[in-house]
Amino acid sequence: MSRADRIAAAGMRTAKEAREAASKRKRSEKRRASDKLLDVESHRHCVVCWKPIPLDSEPAVCGDITCIENNKKRESSRKRLTIMLYLFPGIAILLIFLQLMTGGA
Ligand SMILES: [Zn+2]
Repeated sequence: MSRADRIAAAGMRTAKEAREAASKRKRSEKRRASDKLLDVESHRHCVVCWKPIPLDSEPAVCGDITCIENNKKRESSRKRLTIMLYLFPGIAILLIFLQLMTGGA
């Protein structure tokens, strides 16, 4: 075997080793990514500060007082909004209905 051949063989071997190492690394990275995905599915986030909290925490806030207060405020304003959303069309329909009743009579 000539010197050039030996160098070529050594080069080929290192290239193969590098490729194998790269593919191995890629596989382990893929596994880590799926682990992260599972981790994402097994918890929820505080609706105020998005800190990860246990899946079964209800309401969905962390232990922070400000987050609890903030969530309470948000909840009540949402409730008000929902009531208005039903109340205003309801009043409008009632007014139209009354108009029709009085107009027809
Ligand atoms: Zn929070």
